[in-house]
Amino acid sequence: MKTVLNMLKILVLGLQTIACSSGPYENPDKLHIEMLDVGQGLSFLIRGKGCDFLYDTGTKNSGIDTMLQNRGVKSLCSVVLSHWHDDHVGGIPTLAKMVKNGEIRIKRVLFARDIPLEIGTSGTSRFRDSCLTLLGQAGIETKIISRGDTIADFLPWTTRILFPTEDYSLTENNASVVMRISDSQNSFLFMGDLEAKQEKNLLEMEPLLEAFALQMGHHGSKTSSSWDFLAQVQPKMTFISDGKNNSYGHPHPETLAKLRIILPDTTQIYRTDIEGNVRIEWVHKVGMWRE
Ligand SMILES: [Zn+2]
Repeated sequence: MKTVLNMLKILVLGLQTIACSSGPYENPDKLHIEMLDVGQGLSFLIRGKGCDFLYDTGTKNSGIDTMLQNRGVKSLCSVVLSHWHDDHVGGIPTLAKMVKNGEIRIKRVLFARDIPLEIGTSGTSRFRDSCLTLLGQAGIETKIISRGDTIADFLPWTTRILFPTEDYSLTENNASVVMRISDSQNSFLFMGDLEAKQEKNLLEMEPLLEAFALQMGHHGSKTSSSWDFLAQVQPKMTFISDGKNNSYGHPHPETLAKLRIILPDTTQIYRTDIEGNVRIEWVHKVGMWRE
């Protein structure tokens, strides 16, 4: 019953949007955005007309191959990597192997520049280098992205990279690629593991940043999702990807407490550790709701 009420509430929000926009039914395109249950990691599968797309891949044990095969994904137009931690890019060797075996096609893999890319000595950079070698051997194009870049995979939606800037000297979680998909009414914001200090920098560059749907940075850790950030973004739906009973204590109770205050409807906290895969449908210029 709660879910039905919830859905109605979001539909009403969507219908309010219709009243303010010119002819939203002229373009009935849909996106399906699924937070995959990859355990203690992160991966979103985004499916639009003619394009399947990944934001992160989960860990090496997340079973990204089975997940894609079960959903009939034969080709990915882009794979965006938020940063080079195993819980986000551990699936790259699996994906490269799938490409080599002819099980899937991947047009390009996109990621940001970070300090290890220049220095190349840390464990993170060694893992990154081995991933880049595998991608090269599989013949997959790789490209560095930064703030201001757009990805034309889901037109008429806009997919824009908001962070990091090209010359930022960042690393690890704080080098996370922040990506926003938007139509003229709503946005979905992907934060990777960006932490509070860089959320502040992001807001300095994007003082009017808002998003209907928000992937909570760093699995709902208290090192991300500052009050200032949440108060500006004003999400209506939030997504937390974490493993059941994970040893990090994600999501942190403080983060959940903030969400209960900020969210107009506190049932809109979606968690993989509780619900498994979570998929939403987004009708262009109309609204989004859980499928
Ligand atoms: Zn992470």
